[in-house]
Amino acid sequence: MSLTLSHPDNIPRLISAAPIGICITNADGIYEMVNPAYCDFFGYREDELLGQHFTLVVPEAHRSMLSQLHDCFIQGEDAREIRQEWEVVRKDGAQRSIIAEAVRLVDGHGAVKKATYVTDITERKRLERRLDFLARHDELTGLLNRRAGLARLDEEIARARRQGTPLCVAICDLDHFKQINDRHGHAMGDEALQGVAEVMHAELRRYDVLARLGGEEFLVMLPGAARPAAEQAIERLRARLEDARLGKPDLALTVSAGIAGLAEGDSGEALLERADRALYQAKRQGRNRTRVA
Ligand code: GH3
Ligand code: MG
Ligand code: MG
Repeated sequence: MSLTLSHPDNIPRLISAAPIGICITNADGIYEMVNPAYCDFFGYREDELLGQHFTLVVPEAHRSMLSQLHDCFIQGEDAREIRQEWEVVRKDGAQRSIIAEAVRLVDGHGAVKKATYVTDITERKRLERRLDFLARHDELTGLLNRRAGLARLDEEIARARRQGTPLCVAICDLDHFKQINDRHGHAMGDEALQGVAEVMHAELRRYDVLARLGGEEFLVMLPGAARPAAEQAIERLRARLEDARLGKPDLALTVSAGIAGLAEGDSGEALLERADRALYQAKRQGRNRTRVA
């Protein structure tokens, strides 16, 4: 149906046909008008919304804050509200992300109202979150990637200094991993790497942090652990990996680890360098062992 705009009656039809959700709320935040796109988006019928407070479509935790913002806008001077992103909840409980833009309206009796225009950005937010995840995680193992791992190390160092708690790190490098690839193929090697990440994840405490530094090299951060405790934890991890059988062909492999404890004035780089030197010792002394710097 096409609209003829010459007649004033066409304005309600224009709002009704709008492809984005539009609502009008009164000074108390009560819905006075909702267009079909608004109803569709939130999964309510028009009569289920009219007369209700608009925070019906907002997560409970944000209701009082959004209600206050609505009051401020009604009482304030601004003709337009700042364009903002919000999480909202449909009638069926599904969460959606929106951009809401609002303008102030004054009716024939001087009553101030708020018209809100709602754009669905759920898919865009989902993609943003996915991109953010991919930028920070290793695709094969799901662990933090090198860049995110090193950034996290700086955070852990800052936290350890602030709280005056110990921090140890371990660099774990799989032994003769090239042979695993040569014997079983790269795909099996990949599976083994995934298996290693799972075993490590299961074996460590919840607040330990794991990152894949590259290839078959992993970084473990052990916040709160002094050297003896870190050595115990990494040694347990080493033994657990030695016993594990990974991937489809039940691959056996071993790991060597170099451990270093945070010292005064240490940068992340200096700490990793000491852990790397300890790792080199572990390799030189025959592999499948842990060494402390
Ligand atoms: P070492 O005990 O001295 O550490 O011997 P290594 O063979 O493990 O060490 P090296 O650094 O020489 O080789 C690491 C090998 O890891 C090289 C490569 O074949 C393999 N590798 C690195 N990244 C991946 C990966 O993402 N997937 C698979 N399947 N293999 C990888
Ligand atoms: Mg290796
Ligand atoms: Mg290596």
